[in-house]
Amino acid sequence: MYNKRDCMASKFNSILNEKCPKCEKGAIFSEKGNVFTFRSPKMHEKCPSCGVTFEKEPGYFIGALYVSYGLAVLELIIAYLILAMFNAPLSIIFIAMFLVLSLFSFFNFRFARVIWMYIFCKY
Ligand SMILES: [Zn+2]
Repeated sequence: MYNKRDCMASKFNSILNEKCPKCEKGAIFSEKGNVFTFRSPKMHEKCPSCGVTFEKEPGYFIGALYVSYGLAVLELIIAYLILAMFNAPLSIIFIAMFLVLSLFSFFNFRFARVIWMYIFCKY
């Protein structure tokens, strides 16, 4: 029996593993990107497993910017709370926030697109 809870767990797992929202098997990204070598993440145009087109229309992923913004704010709040717990000076907190934003930029880029596809695509 395939119940709703299993379905949610499966979707959550697929989001974390950046899998296709339709078949949950094909990888969305061909390259994950690397902040340190400035290699940006690369997306497959179509799912390698089921062939669904990821970018439904031009500008489809503009909305993912809002998701990316939300992720960045969440990461900054967490970084701030951790540093504030250790009574870090404000200058260190700002530098740490810059580092957090830089290091998580490609992660946010990928994850925002995946979340965007899972929220707004009914397959
Ligand atoms: Zn697929």
